Amino acid sequence: MSMWRALFDNVYVEKRTLEDAETKRILERAGCTDPIVIEHYKDVFDRKDSEGNSERSLILAHNPGKHLYEGAPVCQSFGNEHFYYSPGVMNCIYDCEYCFLKGMYPGRDICIFTDIGETFKVLDELEKEHPVYVCASYNTDLNALENLTGYVEKWCERALTHPDFSVELRTKCSRTDIYSKLPVSDRAVFAFTLSPDEIIRRFEKGTPDLEGRIRAVEEAMKAGFPVRICFDPMIYVRNWREHYRGMMETLTSRIDLHMVRDISIGTFRISDQYLKNMRKKMPDSEIAQYPYISDRGYYQYPEVVRLAMEDYMKELISDKCSGARTFDWR
Ligand code: SF4
Repeated sequence: MSMWRALFDNVYVEKRTLEDAETKRILERAGCTDPIVIEHYKDVFDRKDSEGNSERSLILAHNPGKHLYEGAPVCQSFGNEHFYYSPGVMNCIYDCEYCFLKGMYPGRDICIFTDIGETFKVLDELEKEHPVYVCASYNTDLNALENLTGYVEKWCERALTHPDFSVELRTKCSRTDIYSKLPVSDRAVFAFTLSPDEIIRRFEKGTPDLEGRIRAVEEAMKAGFPVRICFDPMIYVRNWREHYRGMMETLTSRIDLHMVRDISIGTFRISDQYLKNMRKKMPDSEIAQYPYISDRGYYQYPEVVRLAMEDYMKELISDKCSGARTFDWR
């Protein structure tokens, strides 16, 4: 049985996507010859018993809605005026306790929209008007799904061949084998979210450890891709200074921060509605139940905590790399 088939309890395919080349390719990679045919992905993805259900299914569907959304105010645009995100895959194989997807989607099912070609057509039109920057891993971790979808390669190819298009692929994945095989360009940025191992162990379930992520950073840089380091979200725990200082020591013993494109810093924040959903779903979660402060529709740490953490991270960075290009989510 393929690793992917073992990961999913069931595989569902929308009737209208059955004959798509993309659908056939993903089913083959998933080792699935007998998908369950459905009319609409929402019949499974949005089902009422999803909450609290530990099952995870794979769903292949067409995107019936928008292919690109304008970036939310709490997301960083990294100086790009026209910033969008793609909902091409919904949900993630990892299980970070703080992930907003837990407040956004009812269950754990992963839905892959197989009509990525339609997304590219929307981009063709947008690029006629202005340069476009897309965050392609907004609702998932595409690197972790690359063996299944091949979408990282598609986005990198587009960046290479479209001068007015750039893409960010954000990841916690430790895969090192993909970078040397991907089309390299200055407009495909791999953004690695790094956390201290204490945070990974407690709150980023299923994700690779810091060492694994640093190895992936090294491989992406070696292949020639611009790399972004994301200390975002920073999570408040007891002795947080010690944990973040230790992480920085480990990172800078291996990576020269002068060589990364930029660094993003941000403490945890989340929309009111998503946090409300998460609190209902996860009554015992330290992250969900923390007494955040609500500010203009978003929950965040009290200012004194937020500033202490973000300023401390800036100090750590400037100690190691005084000229680093840093972005603060505010
Ligand atoms: S890796 Fe990102 S998308 Fe995946 S669960 Fe963690 S925070 Fe969510």
